[in-house]
Amino acid sequence: DRLIEAQVQGNEDVVDRAIRPKLLVDYTGQHHVKKQMEIFIAAAKARSEPLDHLLIFGPPGLGKTTLANIVANELSVNIKTTSGPVLEKAGDLAALLTNLEQDDVLFIDEIHRLSPQVEEILYPAMEDYQLDIMIGEGPAARSIKLDLPPFTLIGATTRAGSLTSPLRDRFGIVQRLEFYSVEDLSSIVNRSADFLNLPMDEQGAIEIAQRSRGTPRIANRLLRRVRDFAQVKGDGTVTLDIAQQALDMVDVDKSGFDFMDRKYLLAIIEKFMGGPVGLDNLAAAISEEKETIEDVIEPYLIQQGFIQRTPRGRIVSDRAYQHFGLKAANKEN
Ligand code: ADP
Repeated sequence: DRLIEAQVQGNEDVVDRAIRPKLLVDYTGQHHVKKQMEIFIAAAKARSEPLDHLLIFGPPGLGKTTLANIVANELSVNIKTTSGPVLEKAGDLAALLTNLEQDDVLFIDEIHRLSPQVEEILYPAMEDYQLDIMIGEGPAARSIKLDLPPFTLIGATTRAGSLTSPLRDRFGIVQRLEFYSVEDLSSIVNRSADFLNLPMDEQGAIEIAQRSRGTPRIANRLLRRVRDFAQVKGDGTVTLDIAQQALDMVDVDKSGFDFMDRKYLLAIIEKFMGGPVGLDNLAAAISEEKETIEDVIEPYLIQQGFIQRTPRGRIVSDRAYQHFGLKAANKEN
């Protein structure tokens, strides 16, 4: 496993759930999102209505699930959680919908992976709180309609582009999460260190934040590895020196890159002369799935200006060459 992978690994969810913020005030960063959500939540509560359906976009590990839980918590309603690939049949979704109570939140992670049959059930449910479902098969099949309690659907997705437009259009609120600044990430690791009763100085926190690819989940994971190192090789306190040594040891470099990022960038530089290179070729060259490249590896590299996605393919920037101490290939882009 990649240490800096933004997806959940092993049982880390258990620890994560403990340090996951429960209130909007504890949700660090994302100021724009927070400001809006505060108002929308207050308005829905004042009117005693469910919050409008909310779609949250953003790369893995940026806090989509956390935000969904906070919203339900702030609204003082229950949240039921599921995900696109888990809902195989229309009946799976129907069962969840009919179990909702007034104003509850239904959270569907990876909503871009819903099957078309399931998605179709969702349209009238979102629009009119109606369940419209076929039961039985062949000549005996008939359609039944049921009223649902008013509820809020919160959908999360890593892929803005993969949502069908009828689904997208049914969300009244759309929020896009951004990668976190080093400052925000250091306050997140400071807060987590407090939970873990771990002494840490400011420089130590900043070092971890800088190597966390703008992603809270990675920051918390690196913190746990640095804690191990501090306990075994130091006196238990996370200092700059301890953080640097620990992160060098686990092969997460100054830019927060690991072997996968380096392999990706070096492939474009060495095998494709800096690009442009198409996704298919690149995926084959580094033996990685296209979806992983697009959703997990590239967003941070793009945001940091190491690569560009162009209509002709991926191109690395001068920054990428500098990262490896190489001279940029001389060519027009
Ligand atoms: P996603 O659903 O986008 O993959 P999560 O919501 O599961 O990401 O976030 C991963 C972890 O990162 C959470 O468990 C939480 O500990 C931490 N986290 C995410 N966003 C924030 C935030 N804004 N402030 C503090 N911690 C956060």
